[in-house]
Amino acid sequence: MRYWDWFGDGSLVVCDLGLACCVVELEAAALGRVRLDAAPDGAQVAVVVAGTVTDAVAPLVRKRVADQPGDPIVIAFGACASAGGPYWDSPVVTKGVDQLVAVDHYVPGCPPSPGALDEVFAAHAR
Ligand code: SF4
Repeated sequence: MRYWDWFGDGSLVVCDLGLACCVVELEAAALGRVRLDAAPDGAQVAVVVAGTVTDAVAPLVRKRVADQPGDPIVIAFGACASAGGPYWDSPVVTKGVDQLVAVDHYVPGCPPSPGALDEVFAAHAR
């Protein structure tokens, strides 16, 4: 599993679950950050779900969160991950990733701005 070392000091590492267009903003937010092949001991892991969660990927989402070390924070990044977004009425779209895993932060927008993720991490640190 790969992570972004968000602050460059191993304190917070981000595992992305990019499922649709919101991943572009997530990758923009991560631009220039170091990639790690594993989470350092003691690091806070954040799983960012970016995009549309369909029934087909639901097991992957659950497993990705369950496989994290420690007690990961989970972020629903964008309208789709938060509540189904423009596809909320599709029979194959999950109406929010919180139907699968516990979510700590919801980031609104279709898509959210890349900077919104830094605001979440700053708020979480407070
Ligand atoms: S919230 Fe909007 S931009 Fe993000 S994955 Fe859904 S449709 Fe795409």
